[in-house]
Amino acid sequence: MQIASKIKVLILDDDTFMLKLLTRMLAKQGYTTVSACDNGRDALKRIDHADTCPDLILLDLNMPDMDGIEFVRFLVDRNYHGNLVLVSGEDERMLKTAERLVHAHKIPMLGYLHKPVKPEKLSELLQKWEPYSATTQKQASKKIYGATEIQSAILNHELVNYYQPKVSVTTGDVIGVETLVRWHHPEDGLILPDRFIHIAEQHGLINDLTGLVLKQALAQAKIWHQSGQILRVAINVSMDNLASLDFQDFVVKLVTENGLPPQKITLEVTESQLMGSDTRIPLEILTRLRLKRFHLSIDDFGTGHSSMAQLRDIPFSELKIDQGFVHRAWMDDTLRAIYDASLSMAKQLGMEVVAEGVEDRNDWELLRQTGCDYAQGNFVSVPLLPTDFSRWVEEWQSRVRDGLIVVSATS
Ligand code: C2E
Ligand code: CA
Ligand code: CA
Repeated sequence: MQIASKIKVLILDDDTFMLKLLTRMLAKQGYTTVSACDNGRDALKRIDHADTCPDLILLDLNMPDMDGIEFVRFLVDRNYHGNLVLVSGEDERMLKTAERLVHAHKIPMLGYLHKPVKPEKLSELLQKWEPYSATTQKQASKKIYGATEIQSAILNHELVNYYQPKVSVTTGDVIGVETLVRWHHPEDGLILPDRFIHIAEQHGLINDLTGLVLKQALAQAKIWHQSGQILRVAINVSMDNLASLDFQDFVVKLVTENGLPPQKITLEVTESQLMGSDTRIPLEILTRLRLKRFHLSIDDFGTGHSSMAQLRDIPFSELKIDQGFVHRAWMDDTLRAIYDASLSMAKQLGMEVVAEGVEDRNDWELLRQTGCDYAQGNFVSVPLLPTDFSRWVEEWQSRVRDGLIVVSATS
C-alpha cells in the first residue's frame, strides 16, 4: 500500500460546498494532496501537467458547462491512466449507465458514489485502491501488437485453441465446447484474443487466423468423436470471414475430410464494424451452411454488434445471450428484463439458447428457474486445453451426480 498523502486527488464539482465537504472527508482518511476545481477546463489544465496530474479524480456528473460525460471524453483524448470515481445525485440506473460508458472508454474506475456522499462509502471505495505503480505496470504490459507479429504467430502456429464447455441446464450433460483462441507468445506469455483479433481483422489476416483455428478445432473434434465423446464444437467466425464465397467450400471440405457430421459443428457469428452494407454474400454463405445442417449461432446477443435484422435475415439455430446480460441478472432489474426478453424471443423463434458468463451459483440458478437450455461460463469451467478436458468432464459429472450442481431434471 502506498501512503495516502502521496496520492494526488482531484475533485471536480460545480458545487463549492461539495468541494469543501469531500476535501474534508478525504483529509480525514489521510488523503491530503487534494485539489478542487469547480469547472472542467481548470481540471483539464491540471491533468495536462505531469506534476499536477491526479492519480484519482472524483467527478461530478451534473455540471452546467462541461458535464461529467463530456469531461470523460477529454480524459480519453489525453490517454488518462489514473482512476475515476463518479459522484452524482442521479439514480442508480443513470450512475450504472455512466459507469459502463467509462468502462467502454477503458478508464479505470473505482466505482460511484451517491450524493449526499457518506464517509463510509467513500472509504469503502478507496480501500479498493490499487497502487499506482501496479496500474502503470499493467498498462506497460498492455503492449499493442502489429500485423507482422500476428502474421508470424499464425505461420509459427503460436495460436493455441482452448475449449470452454457448454452444458445442459436441464440434465447437466456436457453438450459441446466453444473454441477460444489464445496466443502463446514466446516472450509475453498467454495473450487473450481481444488483443489481436481486431488487428487481424483490420489487416486482412482474419481468414488465415480462422483457417488455422478451424483446422485445429476440427482435428480435435475428430479425436473426441473417435474416443466416443460426441461434442458439438463451436468456432467463432467474424463477418469478415464471410466476405467471399470460398469460405463455405473451405469449411465443408475440412469437415468432410475429418469425417465429422455438420450437425456437430456450430459457427458463432458476431458482426464486426468493418461489415459493409452489402450483406448478400454473408447471407448466402450462412444460408447454404445451414442447409447442410451446420449450426449457426448469433453471438453476443443484445449488444450493438448483433441486431434484430440479423435475426430476421439469417437462419440461426442458436442464440447466445451476452454475458453482460447474464451475470448478476438475478439481482439487477435492467439486466433481468433484457435477459428475459432475449430468452423469450429465442424460444418463440424455436432457437436453442446459451447463456454466457455464468460465473456463480446465483447465475446458474436463474438459468434453471427460467428454462434456459445451456450454460457457459466460469462457474461451469474456464476455457481448457484438450489435455485437461477429460479430467474436467469426470469432475463435473460427479458434481452433478452428487447434487452439488442442481439441474432442472432432478428438481
Ligand atoms: P466470445 O465469443 O463472447 O467468448 C466468450 C468470452 O468470455 C471468452 O473470452 C471467455 O473466456 C469469456 N468467458 C467465459 N466465461 C466467462 C465468465 O464466466 N465470466 C467472464 N467474465 N468471462 C467469461 P476470450 O476467450 O478472451 O474471447 C474474447 C472474444 O474473442 C470472444 O468473445 C470472441 O469474440 C473472440 N474470439 C475468441 N476466439 C476467436 C477466434 O478463434 N476467432 C474469432 N474471430 N474471434 C475469436
Ligand atoms: Ca463466441
Ligand atoms: Ca459471446
